[in-house]
Amino acid sequence: MKLKHLEMALQRLSGFSHPRAVLEQYQTPAPLAARLLFHALMKGDIEGKNICDLGSGTGVLAIGAALLGAAKVCGIDIDPEAIEVAGANADLLGVDVDFIVADVRDTTLPERLSRADSVIMNPPFGAQKVHADRPFIDLALALAPVTYSIFNAGSAQFIETYTGERAEIDERVGGVFPLKRTFSFHTRDVQEIEVEILRLKRKHSSGRAP
Ligand code: SAH
Repeated sequence: MKLKHLEMALQRLSGFSHPRAVLEQYQTPAPLAARLLFHALMKGDIEGKNICDLGSGTGVLAIGAALLGAAKVCGIDIDPEAIEVAGANADLLGVDVDFIVADVRDTTLPERLSRADSVIMNPPFGAQKVHADRPFIDLALALAPVTYSIFNAGSAQFIETYTGERAEIDERVGGVFPLKRTFSFHTRDVQEIEVEILRLKRKHSSGRAP
């Protein structure tokens, strides 16, 4: 599948029916999602692999991974309503994704979930709740040796400090997140947020929090 075709397929997916600010529910726009996924595909981290999408929302990243030939894909989100939309989105594009309602802060998850080859995610940036992205990073490192994640531009230093001995950033790809007016505190119709896609490579096999 070509990048353009992936982008067009992902454009067809439904977004959040009732987006919740406290959960930072913003669907990743198709061009940015396709960019992350294609990048990971070219690195050999998608096709034939076991993939997990943390904070999968309406499923754009998970479904995209399935379209690109992942062997097995799971998506995890705290919001049952989002998981329902994600399931309908997967059906729409005819792919098989295991969507699970769970909180990434649940410390029993690393034991309950099967190990993945790669994690892909667009977690909350922590705009509503400081450090909301941390449990996502912790779980990602516990599940898979490689993680692709979208962060605010300029976050790399903080992420490296936080992951310390557990992981290193071995790639950074810049991008733009056109944020549509979603919540009452948004003042513009569209605000372009500079973001970066980071590839985190686990240094040790344990992936435990410090
Ligand atoms: N990955 C999706 C959604 C991004 S928005 C996409 O790229 O379009 C961030 C998502 O994280 C939301 O769907 C929100 O419900 C989910 N989320 C926030 N806190 C969470 C938590 N503690 N556990 C699991 N999911 C969470």
